[in-house]
Amino acid sequence: MCRFNKRELSQLNHKYLWHPFTQMRDWLAEEPLFIVGGNGCVLTDIDGKEYIDGTSSLWVNLHGHNVEEINEAIREQLERIAHSTSLGLANVPAAVLAEKLVSISPPGLSRVFYSDDGATAVEIALKMAFEYWRHVEGKETARRKFVSLELGYHGDTLGAVSVGGIDLFHGIFEPLLFEALRVPAPYCYRCRFGRERTSCGRECLVALRKTFGEHQGEIIALILEPMVQCAGGFIVHPDGYLAEARRLCDEYGALLIADEVATGFGRTGKMFACEHENVTPDLMAVAKGLSGGYLPLAATLTTEKVFEAFLGDYAENKTFFHGHSYTGNQLACAAALASLDLFRKRNVLNELEPKIELLRKGLERFQRLPHVGDVRRCGFIGAVELVSDRATKQPFPYEKRVGAKVCYRARRKGVLLRPLGDVIYFIPPYCISETQLNGLLDAAFDSIREETGSA
Ligand SMILES: *Cc1c(COP(=O)(O)O)cnc(C)c1O
Repeated sequence: MCRFNKRELSQLNHKYLWHPFTQMRDWLAEEPLFIVGGNGCVLTDIDGKEYIDGTSSLWVNLHGHNVEEINEAIREQLERIAHSTSLGLANVPAAVLAEKLVSISPPGLSRVFYSDDGATAVEIALKMAFEYWRHVEGKETARRKFVSLELGYHGDTLGAVSVGGIDLFHGIFEPLLFEALRVPAPYCYRCRFGRERTSCGRECLVALRKTFGEHQGEIIALILEPMVQCAGGFIVHPDGYLAEARRLCDEYGALLIADEVATGFGRTGKMFACEHENVTPDLMAVAKGLSGGYLPLAATLTTEKVFEAFLGDYAENKTFFHGHSYTGNQLACAAALASLDLFRKRNVLNELEPKIELLRKGLERFQRLPHVGDVRRCGFIGAVELVSDRATKQPFPYEKRVGAKVCYRARRKGVLLRPLGDVIYFIPPYCISETQLNGLLDAAFDSIREETGSA
C-alpha cells in the first residue's frame, strides 16, 4: 500500500516534520517509531512489534483502537457527507450529539458549542465568560480577570496559555499573555503551605477566598481542571476542594469554568470529574475522549443563563463572534455518538470498576521503590512521582531526564508511556484486559527499578 520502505519513511519524517513538545535535536538523533496499526489497547509498529498503549494515545482513546462500532459509524457517515459548515447550516450528527452530551453532563448545562481541540474549547469558554459579563453588567464592567491554578494546563493557544500555570511550557510567552490571578494548586505532596495531609488546614482554599475577596467585582471566572490537574503532573485534588471552589464562585459572583478535556468521559470513574463533588460548572470544556480518540472534536457546554445573555436584536451585537472551519464536523460527531453509545452497550463505567481496583492495588508496590516519592490515583488514572531523595522530596536533576529514560526502558518491554518530567503515569484504554494491565504495571515497575536502582 505504501510505496516507501521504513528507511525512506524515517528520512521523510526527519527531513520534513516538526513534532509537538519535542526537542527536535534529540528526535533527529534517533530512529522514529512508526505506528502503523492498532487494535484494542495494542499498537503495532512498522516492524510488526506490539506495544500496550499506556497513555491511551495521550489521553484521547477510550474504548481501544479499531473499534468496530465506531469504524462503522464513521463509514456510514462518510457515505453521506464528511463535512458541511455550521455557519448558517445545521447537520444531523451535530444536533443528535448535542442532545446526548447535554443528557450526560452535570445538570444545568444545556447548550453545546462545538470546536476541534481542547485548547479551542477552553478559548471559547474564556471568551464566552468574558463577553457574558459585558452583556450582563455593561461594557464598563470591572470584571476583567480570570483566576487560575498554579500548575494548571488548559492548552497551547494564547488564551489557554494565559490561564496556564506551568512555567516550563508557558513562561517564555509571558509578554504575549493577558494577566490571570494564580492561586496555589492543592498539590498535597508538595504543599505550598508546608502541611502534610494530616495537618491540612485547607490553606489553599483560604488563599482562593482571599483572592476572590481582594478582587471583588473584578473576576470573570475561576478556571480549573476538576479533581486532577493532569499535565501539571497528575495532581489529585483532596476531597472537597472542587465543591468549595464552586461555593466560593457563587459567593463572590464569579463563573466557574471546568476544563474536563482530560478528565471527561469516564477517566476518573465517573462520566465527568465534576460529578465526584456534585458540581455543575457554568462552562465546561470537553475534547480528548469526546470522539473516542478517533477524530479532533471538542465542545464547550454552558447553561441557559449564559446562553440567554447573548440573545438580542441583531444590531445590539450580542452575537458570539467565534467559530472554526470544522465546527460541528459530521464525521467527528458520528464517531462521538458511536463512542457514547458504547458506554451504554458495553456498560463501560461499571465494567471499569474492577479495573480501577486492580490499578489501585497494582500501584501499591510502587511505594516500596526507594525513588518513588508519591503515588497518586483518581479513577482509571494512576501516577508515580520519582524523586532523587524520598526524605527531602528532592527531584532528580532536570537534565538527567530520568522520567524519559524510564519510558525508553518500558518501550523495550512492549509498553508505550510518556513522562511528564519525572512523573510516570498510566491512562490505559478502558478495554485493557487484567493481564494487559498487569503487564503494563510490571513493565513500568521494572523500568523504574532498573533506571533508579533498588536502593
Ligand atoms: C490536553 C488538554 C487540553 C488541550 O487540549 P488539546 O486538544 O491538546 O488542545 C486542555 N485542557 C486539559 C485539561 C488538557 O489535558
